[in-house]
Amino acid sequence: MAALGLVGCASSGANEVASSASTTALTAPTSIDETLSCDMVIVGGGISGLAAAVQAGIDGHSVILLEKTGQLGPMGGAVEGQFGVESTMQKAAGIDFTIADVVAHEMEVAQYRSPGAQWIDLCTNSAGNIDWEVEQGVLFDHVDDYYGTCTLATFHWFKDKASGGYIEPMSARAKALGVDIHLTTWATSLIIEDGVIKGVYAEDGDGMVYQVDAKAVIMASGGVGGDSELVAEQGWTSDWVLFAGNTASRGDGLHMAEQAGAKDMLSEAAAFVMNYVPAFPSNHAPQYADPLNGMVTGVASAHGFGLWVNQDAKRFVNENVGVSNMMLQTMPTKANKHSYVIFDQAMFDATYTGLVDGVADILAESLKTNDGDSLYSADSIAALATKTGLDADTLEETVDRYNGMCAAGKDTDFSRDAKTLTAVESGPFYIARIEQTYFASIGGVLNSAKHEALTTDYETIPGLYIAGLDGAMLYRSVYTINLGGSCCANNVNSGRYSAINADEYIKFL
Ligand SMILES: Cc1cc2nc3c(=O)[nH]c(=O)nc-3n(C[C@H](O)[C@H](O)[C@H](O)COP(=O)(O)OP(=O)(O)OC[C@H]3O[C@@H](n4cnc5c(N)ncnc54)[C@H](O)[C@@H]3O)c2cc1C
Repeated sequence: MAALGLVGCASSGANEVASSASTTALTAPTSIDETLSCDMVIVGGGISGLAAAVQAGIDGHSVILLEKTGQLGPMGGAVEGQFGVESTMQKAAGIDFTIADVVAHEMEVAQYRSPGAQWIDLCTNSAGNIDWEVEQGVLFDHVDDYYGTCTLATFHWFKDKASGGYIEPMSARAKALGVDIHLTTWATSLIIEDGVIKGVYAEDGDGMVYQVDAKAVIMASGGVGGDSELVAEQGWTSDWVLFAGNTASRGDGLHMAEQAGAKDMLSEAAAFVMNYVPAFPSNHAPQYADPLNGMVTGVASAHGFGLWVNQDAKRFVNENVGVSNMMLQTMPTKANKHSYVIFDQAMFDATYTGLVDGVADILAESLKTNDGDSLYSADSIAALATKTGLDADTLEETVDRYNGMCAAGKDTDFSRDAKTLTAVESGPFYIARIEQTYFASIGGVLNSAKHEALTTDYETIPGLYIAGLDGAMLYRSVYTINLGGSCCANNVNSGRYSAINADEYIKFL
């Protein structure tokens, strides 16, 4: 992962991720070394870019694919699976639910703010897209509910993750179809004539500057997760945000689309983001699967471990909220200046002994190095408060009240599942500050059901299409990972249908 520029480990200090000095210059270069020409240029060679490239190649177009890093799918390769409804694999496995079940769920959890028509499109196309991928050589393994974390069994596992199951065969297929792939080459700005998109300018690692003339541009640059300032715009402002996605995805698609007048939806977009504690190690790959510091059973993952308090030493959420959707673990912390999880030795041992090798040593070492001043232990709750700078009386009151609810077997404040109510009563006691690991933004540029970039007035920008994380319109604020793989399904769908719709557009030029 390090070779791909991915930051996978917490370090003692701020994360090394670029901020805002984007690779997008947004102006025409003063001199051009080479002019290239094609029907469609695709910006980004990840999941969505490859889907677009293969579809455009099948439709007989000349295609140039630009990828900023030195390989195709540097981040997409980590993807494990893809959502589908009524797929061949689901039917064979006897999995039976309908598109309406999915869409009703999504609309409700998004408070009816997500575009239902686009959800219908995604669901309707999802099984056909999987069949189409299989025809291109993509390898799936099985379908299930992702370790029981999904409401419905939507998750189609790639064989050997997407790196082996998707990126490899789709790259081979794109090459076989004659797609002209340029690695270590990045689009820097759009070519716009009278409001119509006519291609991109690009640079490569040797400093060559290109003018790529094209009838349509498909933006598939993977969102903003490598740019700390754009991530901060979404509300993740702490110095201790751990950036674990592709640091090459720095909002280039968003900046270029805005250059053409597209509407920035980043403030409403969702993210693939989870909680972690800086003091604990985060060196599992993928980081989100770390049992002690990841998104499923991690100390800060809201699966029903410990008691959470804010900077005022007050409880603020049902600590079990991450069970219904793992992405919900981060949301309540956004309202706080600081968030903490409190636990005792017995609770820690009961949860992690047997789950994490050498966990006692890890805890001792984490307390010693204490990255981010984020982990303390003490023999009393009052002493924990003093070490953290919380009000001792308030913290004691909060813990007493919570322990009383545990004894009564009923959370009268937040209705936490009674099975997960465990009193914080046997010292030594611990307090850990909750921070976030940011993997990827999901959404950013307003686009239509045909994946055409849209202005603030909902006018289409001729010749510009938005695919994958750059434009995912399906979510508002929260990524509904509990219908597993919908992000990837949208990458494939928006990439593929961007190419199909661009084909129609080109025919009428
Ligand atoms: C670790 C991880 C695991 C995930 N697992 C899943 C999963 O199992 N299921 C799921 O549904 N979703 C998953 N996701 C979410 C999402 O599906 C993936 O992030 C997916 O790779 C996004 O596809 P994309 O095409 O939008 O972006 P990417 O696959 O990231 O591709 C974008 C590409 O654009 C390139 N690029 C950036 N700027 C430029 C430029 N200016 N010019 C040229 N190229 C550029 C980047 O280098 C990158 O290769 C996961 C995300 C992460 C981070």
